Amino acid sequence: MPYPGRFAAVPTGRRALALDVGGTKLAAGVVDGQGEVLARHQVATPRTTDPEALFATVSALLDEVRRRAGATVAAVGVGCGGPMSAGSGVVSPLNIPAWRDFPLVDRLRDRFDVPVALDNDAKALALAEGWVGAAAGRRNFLAMVVSTGVGGGIVLDGRLLDGADGNAGHIGHVIVEPDGRQCACGAQGCLEAEASGTAIAATTGRPAAEAGAAVRARTGRLVGRAVASVCNLLDLRLACVAGSVALGYGEPFFVAARAELDARARLEFSRGAVIVPGGLGHDGPLVGAAAVAWRALGHPILGDPSSATPSPATPSSATPSSATPSSASPSSASPSSAGR
Ligand SMILES: [Zn+2]
Repeated sequence: MPYPGRFAAVPTGRRALALDVGGTKLAAGVVDGQGEVLARHQVATPRTTDPEALFATVSALLDEVRRRAGATVAAVGVGCGGPMSAGSGVVSPLNIPAWRDFPLVDRLRDRFDVPVALDNDAKALALAEGWVGAAAGRRNFLAMVVSTGVGGGIVLDGRLLDGADGNAGHIGHVIVEPDGRQCACGAQGCLEAEASGTAIAATTGRPAAEAGAAVRARTGRLVGRAVASVCNLLDLRLACVAGSVALGYGEPFFVAARAELDARARLEFSRGAVIVPGGLGHDGPLVGAAAVAWRALGHPILGDPSSATPSPATPSSATPSSATPSSASPSSASPSSAGR
């Protein structure tokens, strides 16, 4: 059964091949135009330094899931950990050393002979949540992932924010403890350095999933603190939080996050902002990857025609007509009756 929410105008019967590239696992799925995952499969990310060996694993995974669904696909959509350079289709995921400046989009296009679109995995999740998840129909929200790392994507005025290099929404590097732990980015006290699964494991000496009540509450508190800053900055009232740490910690995490958000989002417009669990569970990343593909093909995933514009992170990866980076100005975004 499809998820609740509005359906994007993807022709019935079309399928996208979705790929989520993470440092811990590689997941693939076949997703239809209503955001339903028809088949899924995942494997552990191989611990290899050989870029071709990793690509072979990815290709086999996609073949397998396509076989399971028995479907031809119209496009491939990819969500991948950052950083990536805008429009190049080239990835260098921090936690996957085998791929440095790896031309993932070109390679997938050669392999599958359909349009391929790529975006940051957390931005992809934001598309998914706004399409058929916990933010369906909302024009302003933050979506974030708290798992091995911490990532985020922001939809503002019905548009997914890209930023100069396609990296907008990196809430993992909002400072939550000025004198806190050193972050891999070079700063100190970033949310990711304090609240990611990696950070929790490093500070507690055991897997994040085994953390006690105090750690669960502190993790929620720090996430709520970062969310409050973003809500104050961007006039937001909704944050959807997914990822294995957040969803695994459950209510104690969310209760602490909400209390901290309530305490720190005190402006008239940010007061009352809420944090909710992501609405798509473990399908979120794949639905998001498919959303990246549909959007690059011109389907208005977020209900706003302007949101169908390929992001700067995807143009060379999509159809030939989108080979030029989009320069759609806000004024070209006609007000939409859809959404709120
Ligand atoms: Zn950082």
